[in-house]
Parts: sequence; C-alpha cells; structure tokens
Amino acid sequence: MPEDALLSINQVTTREQWSLRQAIEGYARHGVHGIAVWRDKLHELGVPEAVGMLRGHGMTVTGLCVGGLLTAEDGAAFQDALDENRRVIDEAAALDAQCIVFVAGGVEGGSRDLKGARERCLEGLAALLPDAAAAGVTIALEPLHPMLCANRSVLSTLKLANEWCDRLDAGPELGIAVDVYHVWWDPDLEEQIARAGSRIVAFHINDWLADTRDLRLDRGMMGDGVIDLPAIRRMVEDAGYRGHREVEIFSERNWWRRDPDEVVNIIKERNRSAV
Ligand code: ZN
Repeated sequence: MPEDALLSINQVTTREQWSLRQAIEGYARHGVHGIAVWRDKLHELGVPEAVGMLRGHGMTVTGLCVGGLLTAEDGAAFQDALDENRRVIDEAAALDAQCIVFVAGGVEGGSRDLKGARERCLEGLAALLPDAAAAGVTIALEPLHPMLCANRSVLSTLKLANEWCDRLDAGPELGIAVDVYHVWWDPDLEEQIARAGSRIVAFHINDWLADTRDLRLDRGMMGDGVIDLPAIRRMVEDAGYRGHREVEIFSERNWWRRDPDEVVNIIKERNRSAV
C-alpha cells in the first residue's frame, strides 16, 4: 500500500490558513484522504454541509476534536460538560468519525484536588459510554504530556489511560489515541503501547523540537525534532494498529505562517522519509 494511503492531516495543522471547506478541498487535491476535524471549524461550515463535502471528496474522518473536559467541581458545570459531550457524540456519528479525541480536562481554577479531578473525569466517562455505544462512536482517551496537567488534561500517561480502560471495562466505544508529542518521553512507552493493543484507535504524529518555545503551540514537523518516530510507529504496529497516521502540528512560529499547499507537500515527503 502506498505510504500516503493511510496519511491523515489534523486540520489544526493548517488552522490559521484554511477553513474546513478549504482543508477538505486542499488535502484531497494533494491526494490526502484522511482528516481530523475541529468543532469550531465544523460549526462554521455546518454539519450537513461538512458531511456532504467529506463524502464528495472521499475523506475519512480520523478524529473529531475535542470531547472531554470533564473535571469541573461545580455540579451544574459538570452537567453542562456532559451535555456538550453528547453533542460531540452526535456530531461524530454524523461525520462517521473513527473516534472522538477525548481530552480529560485540567485541575479547575483554585483547586488542588488532582485525585478528585481524575475521579470526576472517570465518572463522566462512565456516564457517556452508553451514549457513545448507542451512536456507534468511539471515545479515544488521549493522554497529554504532564506539563498540561494543570490546565488541559489530568490524564497524563498511557499507563493511566490503560488503567482507566481497565476500570471502565467498555467495548469498542472506548479506545486510546497515541500522540507521539505527549508520550515519547515515557520510559514505559513500549510496555504500555503493547498493553493498549487493540485499544489504540488513533496515532498522531509530529515532532518535539529540542529548542521548543511554547508548551502547546510549537510542535515540529516529523524529522525536525528529537522523537524516534520509526521506533514508535513500530511499537503501535506491533500492537496491532493498522489505521491512519494523523499529522497534528500546532505551530505558531512556523507552520501556521507557511503556504498551506507547501505544508501539505512537506507532510507527504516527511511521511515517507521520517516516519
Ligand atoms: Zn493528538
């Protein structure tokens, strides 16, 4: 199979240059038929219009970003977050997305109760899984780098994601997203990827720049940083993963400022030479 056949681009990679309509047309024009969709861009275009365009261009939606953010201490805010996640589930079903990328949420303003935040997130997940199952949607837990624990995700390691999956004991409505940016540093990586096995439903690629300047918005193109991408690709494939490689690059200083057609061409080249 040609290397590009399982290539997907998370639209955040061209977020500053292209709307969802332009991203669908642009990626398809370059022969890339996988895309991960962000909800703000989806709502700009409208769900029915997006569904028609994705279908018309033969696109596979490898993820809908983002669900989760289920750590609110306030009961009403927690219920609101659950309701919002049910809308995400409906949208993922409409787009026939392979998964919802689930970001846990951080430690809420002023709180020091990290343990409680993790418990609430698990409780929220347990409440949502029946809805996901009924809709035929998979919620993919994406552990985020521990540097984001305070404000974005209390789910910090692949080991913890595996433990949550064990505890929730769900079917195909629950999986794991492995993003190299968040897990490359982990001494338990190989063991935890093997343990995740068929739970892995998404594989996100990019690179960690040695001189990174921002903890979230300064990701590198594959091959420009310190991550051993072929090694991690081998681990997920040894674990049985046969799905897309989704390029996901937040890059305020570089890639968001480049001509998006050039960005896609470089992605295709690096997918062949650096992954
Ligand atoms: Zn990711």
